[in-house]
Amino acid sequence: MSTATAPGPGDLTRHGDPQQFLPGCPACDGHHRLDACPEGGVAPHPRRTETKEAPVAIKRDLSDLPPAGLAPDPSPRFAGLLAEWWSTRPDDHVPSGKAFRHSDAGKCARALSYRIAGIPRSDPMDLPGWHNVELGTLIHDAWQEALPAMFTVERAQSLFDDRTVVDVQVAIEVGVEHEAIDSIGYVDAVVTVTFDGDHEPHVIALELKSVGGWKHKNAIGKARKNSPAEGPDTGHLLQAALNGLAVGADEVVVAYIAKECLSATQYRDADPLARFVAEWAFTREQYVPLAERELERVAAVIALGSEGLLAPRKLPDMPPRSEITDPSTGDWEQRIDGEVTDTGNAWACAYCPYQTVCLTTEAGRIPVESVVATKAVA
Ligand code: SF4
Repeated sequence: MSTATAPGPGDLTRHGDPQQFLPGCPACDGHHRLDACPEGGVAPHPRRTETKEAPVAIKRDLSDLPPAGLAPDPSPRFAGLLAEWWSTRPDDHVPSGKAFRHSDAGKCARALSYRIAGIPRSDPMDLPGWHNVELGTLIHDAWQEALPAMFTVERAQSLFDDRTVVDVQVAIEVGVEHEAIDSIGYVDAVVTVTFDGDHEPHVIALELKSVGGWKHKNAIGKARKNSPAEGPDTGHLLQAALNGLAVGADEVVVAYIAKECLSATQYRDADPLARFVAEWAFTREQYVPLAERELERVAAVIALGSEGLLAPRKLPDMPPRSEITDPSTGDWEQRIDGEVTDTGNAWACAYCPYQTVCLTTEAGRIPVESVVATKAVA
């Protein structure tokens, strides 16, 4: 085959291939006439001749694919159905008759009051909210399945080099309560490690949270260069503390699993696990005082409710004598002797299911009826 007739790179059409044009006997394809055919020269039916279209060369690259930057369809028809389906579920799992659930720990006192007073949520969860929450539930459920299988006696032993581990029990989704505040909570996992000899078992209450990549970065101090680790959310820590106290845990652990990993190129030297998980462990000495303060705060909100009052708009990590002045932005002010001495912003208002109704209310302790009256006018 000459180079003139050979197919070029990527050209698979065999145009000009001389093998396509060799003459042959119609009976046996030998190189002789039909009357000289050693097979007897019986010609088959004439071959069907097809009109071939001009061959199309296969491209050597993908430059004919749609370009980058192609705008999405204006209205997705299929991908959003999962979130729509999720959104048909009830989004408030508080059993009737309970004043407080531990997953509300650390929330704004006014928001707790609205719930206790039975004021309906004015801002139900939107589809992005459902997407986020239910993805978290999937991770949560899978982790709870993996934990008992993976946290074996051998693994526990690797954490205690001064005692011999003889047994490990992992209880999942343990229901707990604090009678004093008529509360209910669910511990994601309670791990009990038993040792030989006279050692007391070691009980760990685990609180797992799935978080976005940005929150994970902030929590572990990787959001910006030299930025300190923010640690877990106050609410997550207080929930873990309340749950830990309820089961008498020796230790509570707040564990984060990020829904997006830190970039492999940016964090090439980081421990691979650190790119998507983080844990913070707290001893009894550390977590019990936090739990007791949260119990006191919630008890005070409940007491106000029994007097027909709603609590001020305040989160537990805001400074003394401060209150949210604008629920539309979360802006707060600290006032001492009538003077503004500090200001700040609470992100919680943007995610609060009572934000719209809260905008119609006054700051401070206010009568429950004032909210009902405002809603009636609206
Ligand atoms: S909107 Fe803000 S101030 Fe009002 S209840 Fe919610 S978190 Fe509190």
